[in-house]
Amino acid sequence: MPTAPRGVGNLRGEEGFPAAARTALADPQLRRNLGHATRTIRAKRASVVAEVPDWQELRAAGAAIKDDVLARLPELLVQLEEQVTARGGTVHWARDAAEANAIVTRLVQATGADEVVKVKSMATQEIGLNEALEAAGIAAWETDLAELIVQLGHDKPSHILVPAIHRNRAEIREIFLREMGKVGRPAPEGLTDEPRALAEAARLHLRRKFLSARVAVSGANFAVADSGTLAVVESEGNGRMCLTLPQTLITVMGIEKLVPTWQDLEVFLQLLPRSSTGERMNPYTSLWTGVTPGDGPQEFHLVLLDNGRTATLADPEGRAALRCIRCSACLNVCPVYERTGGHAYGSVYPGPIGAVLSPQLTGVEDNATLPYASTLCGACFDACPVAIDIPTMLVHLRNRVTEAKEAHGPLPGAEATAMRAAAFAMSDRRRWTLALRSAKLGRLLGRDGRIAAVPPPLTRWTRTRDLPVPPPESFRDWWVREHGGRS
Ligand code: SF4
Repeated sequence: MPTAPRGVGNLRGEEGFPAAARTALADPQLRRNLGHATRTIRAKRASVVAEVPDWQELRAAGAAIKDDVLARLPELLVQLEEQVTARGGTVHWARDAAEANAIVTRLVQATGADEVVKVKSMATQEIGLNEALEAAGIAAWETDLAELIVQLGHDKPSHILVPAIHRNRAEIREIFLREMGKVGRPAPEGLTDEPRALAEAARLHLRRKFLSARVAVSGANFAVADSGTLAVVESEGNGRMCLTLPQTLITVMGIEKLVPTWQDLEVFLQLLPRSSTGERMNPYTSLWTGVTPGDGPQEFHLVLLDNGRTATLADPEGRAALRCIRCSACLNVCPVYERTGGHAYGSVYPGPIGAVLSPQLTGVEDNATLPYASTLCGACFDACPVAIDIPTMLVHLRNRVTEAKEAHGPLPGAEATAMRAAAFAMSDRRRWTLALRSAKLGRLLGRDGRIAAVPPPLTRWTRTRDLPVPPPESFRDWWVREHGGRS
C-alpha cells in the first residue's frame, strides 16, 4: 500500500525524536512558553467539558460515526464527489503530496494569479503546499494569526491548533517589526507586545491581502457526504474572509474528513470547540456547498488527498488514528509534548496523535522513533474527543517498528542482546528459577528502593532511568512458602 512519498511535504524530521528532543530540552524559554500555554488551554478545556453531562456519550457517538465513515469510505467519497459536482464544484483526486501540490499549482496558474490567501490547514502543511507554490512563483499568504507569526518568522509550526505556541509576546513583536514590511504593510511604529496591539498589527497587514487576492486555499474540518457541504471552523474571522471574498476557492482535504450526514456534523460541532480552544462553540463556523451564483467564490475546487491514509486504513489496529479531528487536546495533556514542544517530532503532526499518525502515513521505518515518544500514561486517550486509544496504538506501532527492523536483519546492540537473554532464560523453568535467584543479587546495588546504575553490558539501560530493587522474596518463593508448591 503506497505511503506518503519522501522528498515532498512535512511528515519527516531531519533527525530522530531522541536527538531533537535533547535539543529542545536545552531551551528553558521554550519550556516556559509551552508550560504556560498548555496549562492555560488544559484548564479552559476541563471547565467547558465538565459542563456537558453527556460528554462520554458524545465521545462514543463521535467515535462510532468516524468508524462508520472509515468502514464505508469509498462509497461516501463517491457520494461527496457527486454532490459537490452537482452543485457546481470540481473534485480532484490526489494520490499523494506531489500530486496534490501539482493540482493546486495548476489551478492557481489557470486563474493568472501570482498570490493566494490561505486559511490555516494541516493538510496543506502536510504536503508542503507553500513551498511548492513558491517554487512556481506563487506567493501563499497565511492569514491565521499564529500561522502568520510562523511564516514571518521563517519558522515551523509546533502545535496543531496554536502553531506559534513556542513563541512569547516579545518574540512575536520582534518578528512583526522585522518582517512585516518586507512582504506588505509594515508593523505600526511603536508596536508594543500587548496582545491587542499585536492582533491589530496583523489585522492591518492582512487586510490588504484579503482585498487583493483572487484565489484562496483552505483545508476543511469536515465534509458532509450527503449534501457536498464543506465546513471550516475558526476563531479569528480570517477564514470567513478567505472563503467568501476571492473568486476562486481551492480546498485540500484528507479523505478521512467525511461525515455521512448533517446530523452527524452536529456531534462534532459540540466535540471540537470544547476539546480544541476550550470554547462552547466556534466563533466562526463557515459552511459552503458548491458554488452559489453571485455569492462568494464562483469557482470551487476540492482536492481529496490520500498521502498514506489508505495505507493507514489497511491496518486494523492503527486505522483509528484516522478518526482524529485535529483538536490537539492530546498535545495539551501530554507530559512529553509539554517538555519537548512540537518541533522535536519532526512532522507537522506533533504530540501523541503525531506519534501514531506520522509513522503510519510515511511507513514506520521513516518515523521509527516516534512511537517511543511517550510514557504511555494514557492522558491522551482520556482527553481525546473521539476516544482514540493512542497508548495501545503506540505499543502496536512499536511492534511494527521492531518487525520492520528485524526484516532487515537481527536487531543490533544491547536491546537485542537483552531480549535474547530474556527469551533464553524464560523458555526453561530451571533457567528461569536460576535467573530469579541471581536477580536478588541486584539488591546489593540498590539504595532507597532504586538501582541507579548496573554494570555492563546493561549500563546504557540505567543511563536514563532507575531500576526498582528486586523484592527480597519472589512470587514463586512466596507461593512455595505459603502453599508448599501446590497449584
Ligand atoms: S487524537 Fe484525539 S485528542 Fe488528539 S488531536 Fe486527534 S481528536 Fe484531538
